[in-house]
Amino acid sequence: MKHSTNLIEIFSSIQGEGKYLGCRQIFLRFADCNLKCAYCDTNFDRQEFCNVETSAGSMKFKKIINPISVDNVIEVIKNFSAEVPTHSISFTGGEPLMHADFIQAVADQIDLKIFLETNGTLYNELAKIIDSIDIVSMDLKLPGVVGKNLFEEHRKFIETAQVKDLYTKIVISDETTQEEFLTAIKTIADVSKDIFLILQPVTPINDIKAISAEKILSLQTLALKYLFDVRVIPQTHKIINLL
Ligand code: SF4
Repeated sequence: MKHSTNLIEIFSSIQGEGKYLGCRQIFLRFADCNLKCAYCDTNFDRQEFCNVETSAGSMKFKKIINPISVDNVIEVIKNFSAEVPTHSISFTGGEPLMHADFIQAVADQIDLKIFLETNGTLYNELAKIIDSIDIVSMDLKLPGVVGKNLFEEHRKFIETAQVKDLYTKIVISDETTQEEFLTAIKTIADVSKDIFLILQPVTPINDIKAISAEKILSLQTLALKYLFDVRVIPQTHKIINLL
């Protein structure tokens, strides 16, 4: 069991995406990722220090040297959750499953729900800790975004994750092709038509162009032919300047 790891930041804020949009969470953002997405706006390189919010929601930070211990993280979580009733702990990144042992060590010592935000590829790591996870927010990455086909990894991941509160998410843009989108939808539907899917229009920041309304609706129409519940939900935390 790994008792320390490299974290980027720990803070309390709202979930800005997906099924649990608006819920208050404590976020643990891990360093490292196994993918390189074209639209990635997250700095997941290892840092000398982890930025830890001074109190829940203060948006002011102190620095704790990396690697940070499980005990240290538990103490921060307990302090934050005493200050504000918290829906769940979001393990995010980077790709948090690159730190699966650490997630399990933390999860086993706290009472709050464990929420995993993942790129949905490291299915073996997920299988090792699935009993410790409550909610899985899983991205499906299209080949046009990551430069490779990950659908077999995604299918295995969904098969393992579906025993929990699983929802899937695809970021869509004007570059999304019908062919890759349809393959992603069928990958989900082949496991179960009941799996909840969110289409997240790409956030138009920096040089990224917004997707047209017509394209959003046509992709939702297509997805609804294969899955029962497909909703369009954009990222919200950036609109209101939250972390
Ligand atoms: S999986 Fe997430 S963190 Fe990793 S490169 Fe893609 S968007 Fe960035």
